[in-house]
Amino acid sequence: MTAFPFIVPRLNDPRLTQRRQYGMVIDGKSVSALSGETISRESPGHPGHIVSLIPKGSRADAELAIAAARRAFDNGLWPRMTGSERGRIMNRIADQIEAHIEELATIEALEVGKAISQARGEIGFAVSLWRYAAGHAQGLEGEAHNDLGSNTLGFILREPAGVVGLITPWNFPLLIGSERIPWAIGAGCTVVIKPSEFTSGSTIRMAELALQAGLPEGVLNVITGYGADVGQILAEHPDVDVVNFTGSQRVGRLIGALAGQNIKKVGLELGGKGPQVVFADANLDAAAAKISGGVFHCSGQVCISGSRLIVHESVADALLEKVQAVAERIVTGDPLDDRVNVGALIHQAHLDKVAEYVEQGKTDGARILIGGSRLGNGGAFYAPTIFTEVAPRMTIAQDEIFGPVLTTFRFKTAEDAIRMANDTPYGLSACVWSTNLSTAFQAIRLIKAGRTWINGMGDGAPQLAIGGYKQSGVGRELGKHGFDEYSELKSVHVSLSALAE
Ligand code: NAD
Repeated sequence: MTAFPFIVPRLNDPRLTQRRQYGMVIDGKSVSALSGETISRESPGHPGHIVSLIPKGSRADAELAIAAARRAFDNGLWPRMTGSERGRIMNRIADQIEAHIEELATIEALEVGKAISQARGEIGFAVSLWRYAAGHAQGLEGEAHNDLGSNTLGFILREPAGVVGLITPWNFPLLIGSERIPWAIGAGCTVVIKPSEFTSGSTIRMAELALQAGLPEGVLNVITGYGADVGQILAEHPDVDVVNFTGSQRVGRLIGALAGQNIKKVGLELGGKGPQVVFADANLDAAAAKISGGVFHCSGQVCISGSRLIVHESVADALLEKVQAVAERIVTGDPLDDRVNVGALIHQAHLDKVAEYVEQGKTDGARILIGGSRLGNGGAFYAPTIFTEVAPRMTIAQDEIFGPVLTTFRFKTAEDAIRMANDTPYGLSACVWSTNLSTAFQAIRLIKAGRTWINGMGDGAPQLAIGGYKQSGVGRELGKHGFDEYSELKSVHVSLSALAE
């Protein structure tokens, strides 16, 4: 049995003892819940340690935030500023986030349980997202049409869509917020965001930093609490024009249905079961490193996790040996320790769910190559786990486990590989490994996924749109297409003949 490197959490770390108490951010002010109630968060990597307290908001609190965002949109300066003025303030927000990377990364290591080095990298990337959207805020254009006959001109005006309600999950709170907020406010909208009740701290701090950077009051509001209490209202309330949800398929269906009933624009980014397809001519060393990172990063709690390895039978054994060797070197443990690559899972109940999936896989006849057990003593840690001999209809082959579990499949022909890659209800991400670019491109064209890599896995760029095919979602974030989610288009017909009469 593999002895995975594990760093025991240090329970006397001074960063652990500074319990943070947060307020919601409504109309530029830090406020408690009207009820005065709070929710406490225990660090999943440091059992027994409460690291933050957030307000337990209710519908009444959410209504105050929606009203503030509505006023800021209907009467405030923000939608009426020039794009370059908005961009200037957004660049200052990026500077503030950058200046607070260590604080924000510490909050996420404590609340999410992720390795602090990973959190620092993500927040650095979030800064680049803010800067990209800030630059584009001054270049959002419509269209002019001069070919409608001698008496007519046509225009398409791009306008901000209004008040945007954002609901975000626990795995990448600041990053996922930064994939949406800058695009929404860059387009001239105002926002109410509800982060996960487990991990609200970094989103609250980001909104406070945005105020310090000069964002007008009411443009970015944060409400905290449970989804049914403060999230659902964002899909129901008539004063919210756009609702954008990132999270599970279960809640995504509900938000989509509510948005339909209330006729609002909706964006959904849901789960995934990403294939990593490896052809016989792939560079196996490069592939092994990225395949391991692609599924074990953040303990596999990543929507784009490459959790299905689909490998040509002629190289399967050689590749698995290499993936195993990389996975066995992953350092798990104390999220606050710089040497750690992978921290804890989000909470014990989720760890139990992952462990149940592993048991189910064993019962169904799949074989464990490595892992399959908890790590440490008490924290929510689970070993990198690789299954072989997985059949396509097994539960572990179909469900999003959202844990550090790789399922592996072998193929004979390219057609088999594509069929297997597309054989789940999801279509969020995929990657293909081949040294023959023609093989790789042919495969990418046939795989139904919104975000793909050739000879890589996990890289992102502010320019490149992301989002899901099939049941992984609706809409696209990032890049210039990301602004469409938060804009309305208005066509204007101008009759020139009327002017002449
Ligand atoms: P979740 O659906 O349980 O929660 C997401 C958010 O929705 C949280 O803020 C939660 O409080 C809120 N919520 C819960 N019930 C609600 C309700 N009735 N009305 C309104 N809001 C409600 O998901 P999670 O457990 O936080 O995250 C894990 C899931 O998210 C996984 O399935 C993962 O694949 C997915 N995810 C997708 C992406 C993506 O970009 N596609 C990114 C991260 C996570």
